[in-house]
Order: sequence, then C-alpha cells, then structure tokens
Amino acid sequence: MSRAEAVIDLGALRHNVALLAAEAPRAATMAVVKADGYGHGALEVAKAALEAGATWLGACSTAEALNLRVAGIRAPMLAWLDAPEEDLAAGIAADVDMSVASLSDLRRVEEAAALSGSRPRIHLKVDTGLSRNGCQPKEWPELVQAAKKHEVVAVWSHLACADDIGHPSIDLQAKRFDDAYDVAREAGLHPMRHIANSAALLTRPDLHHDLVRPGIAIYGLNPVPTDHDLRPVMTFKACVALTKRIPAGESVSYGMTWTAQQDTTLALVPAGYADGVPRALSGRMEVLLGGERRPVVGRVCMDQIVVNCGDDEIQEGAEVILFGPGTKGEPTAREWAELTGTIDYEIVTGMYRPRVRRVFT
Ligand SMILES: *Cc1c(COP(=O)(O)O)cnc(C)c1O
Repeated sequence: MSRAEAVIDLGALRHNVALLAAEAPRAATMAVVKADGYGHGALEVAKAALEAGATWLGACSTAEALNLRVAGIRAPMLAWLDAPEEDLAAGIAADVDMSVASLSDLRRVEEAAALSGSRPRIHLKVDTGLSRNGCQPKEWPELVQAAKKHEVVAVWSHLACADDIGHPSIDLQAKRFDDAYDVAREAGLHPMRHIANSAALLTRPDLHHDLVRPGIAIYGLNPVPTDHDLRPVMTFKACVALTKRIPAGESVSYGMTWTAQQDTTLALVPAGYADGVPRALSGRMEVLLGGERRPVVGRVCMDQIVVNCGDDEIQEGAEVILFGPGTKGEPTAREWAELTGTIDYEIVTGMYRPRVRRVFT
C-alpha cells in the first residue's frame, strides 16, 4: 500500500446513481462531476454513472467537460462557468452544451461558435434568488429574445437553500423559475427545465422537471436528513509506518500538546495535512486501526500523524482507515466536516491531491 490512498467504490457510486434516478423517474439524470468528480475522479465516475442510469453529465468549466470528451465520453454534457477569456470554441465543436446567463455570455458563445463552425446548444440560466451566475428576471425577456435564434435546449436555475427542507426561498425560487419558463414559452421556445440539485431531488419531486442534477448524493453523502440508502463512495486510508513504545511523561508531535500518562504504544501513520488531513483535527480525530477506533494524539503534521494504541500489539504495515462509509465503525467525512466547521463536500473534494493515490474498486 502507498502512503495514503483514496479508495473509490464505483459499485457504491452505481448504486447511488440508480437509486437517485429511480427517485426522479420522469426526469433524466445529470451526474455532476465537476472538480474532478468532487475529488473522486471525474472520468471513472462519469463512466460508472452512465452505466448506472445517468444520461447527462454536468461539469463546471468547459475544460472539465472537454477532458471527458477527449477520453471518449459521448453523453450530453453541460458546462456552466468559465472565465471570460476561456476559449469556448473547442467545447462547442465537441458538443458541450453551454450555459448562458447574460448577453455577454451569449456574445462569447456566438463568437466561439462562429470560430468553430458548429451550432451551439444553449441552456439559458435564470437567477431565481441565489444571486450567483444566472440572469436577473428583469433582463430575462431580452436575453430570451436574443438567444431564440439558437438551439435553446433548456431553461435552468440553481437553488440557494434546498438542503433546508421547507425553507421559504425554495417556493419563491420555484415560482420565479416558472415565470422565467413562461417567458421562454411565450417567445416560442420549447426548452427543457432543470433546477434540482441532490437536496431538491431527494425532497422536492415537484421540482424534478425534465432533468435532475445530483452531485453530492451520487458520492453517497446525503445533504438532507432523509433515510435514503446512499452509500459513501470514498474511503481514505493509510498504513502504519512505524510503531514504538514511549514511557509515561513523554510528549508527542510539535508543540508537545499531548503527554503520555502511562507507558504506551504509538503508531506512526504517513498521512498529514499535505495529504488532506486537516490540521484543525489536531487533538480531535480518531482512526480505525486493528478493528478499533483510536485517538490521534498531538498535532497533525504536514506528512504524518501519531495514533495512541495503548498496550495493544500493532503491526507495522497495518491498515489505518481515516474516514469511510462508517460501516466498520470508522469516522466519516461528515464527522471530519463537523469537527472542522465545514461540509462533507469540502472534505471529499479536498482529497484530490497528487500525494494521495486513487484506487478504484
Ligand atoms: C454543484 C452543482 C450541482 C450539484 O449540487 P449538489 O448539492 O452536490 O447535488 C447542481 N447544479 C449546479 C449548477 C451545481 O453547481
């Protein structure tokens, strides 16, 4: 085993995608694979998701989408946010659908399409309340008019509080979305509609429309407190590089923040904050080692952590699970997120690092 590994369970991913597709039976499913598949590996995730019933893929940048095209993925694909100077022509030529949220977006897409000699496929994005990208309702009729000479595949938007079940903004955004769609219909367009992320897919069937866009849920992390059988896809593990006995009174790691109260066995694990173990977990994390949860003592270093194993016999080379699905008692990405004041999205997405080997099973 290498120093640190992110083991990606593609069987769990397929299970999740099939479950989510079945939750939204009248809609197509777009598997969101931005940020290298939330740190899981976009290409492998994309292939597995398509096998399991997804028919669309969602990327953030055109470059992310193009990587998948170059690797031979033929499914419909949407890219939704590029820097203004990004060259979109290659994306349009490769049949990547473009999100357009403003007249300047539209101009860039038109220029790139002219360069590439291909017809663009456009998803018009309306801002229904998130105030990120998306066209303000006031400017929407003008954008629709300007875009209607093109192939407008969809009208779409994104929710601000879908993970807060019953939040009043959800209905307000849904209403604004309906209004925006009506404007497009009155302009003679017949686009698809999509607004649901994972949370809305799981809790708001009325917002499934023609296409749902689950991200985090395909990776087995549920953003809402429902009991759907989602299975976490990523396990982060390492192994014991060295064991040693230290006498009572000796301290561990930088700053000597932890001192042994009695003689004890320590296991050194070659994974630290450069491998994605947040330093903020110093003194607060546990790992699964030898079938038991054990505390990491002292500070998390750049390259290593130290596990207190008491009087147990620990073999060098033994497997250490830092986080996983939780089914064997190991910590979960959610637990790390709660301990460090973030969300599990950031934990798994942060595991994409050159030092961490990815292993697909
Ligand atoms: C990231 C993203 C999603 C997926 O969101 P999840 O909460 O991970 O399901 C869907 N749509 C857009 C536009 C996104 O940026």
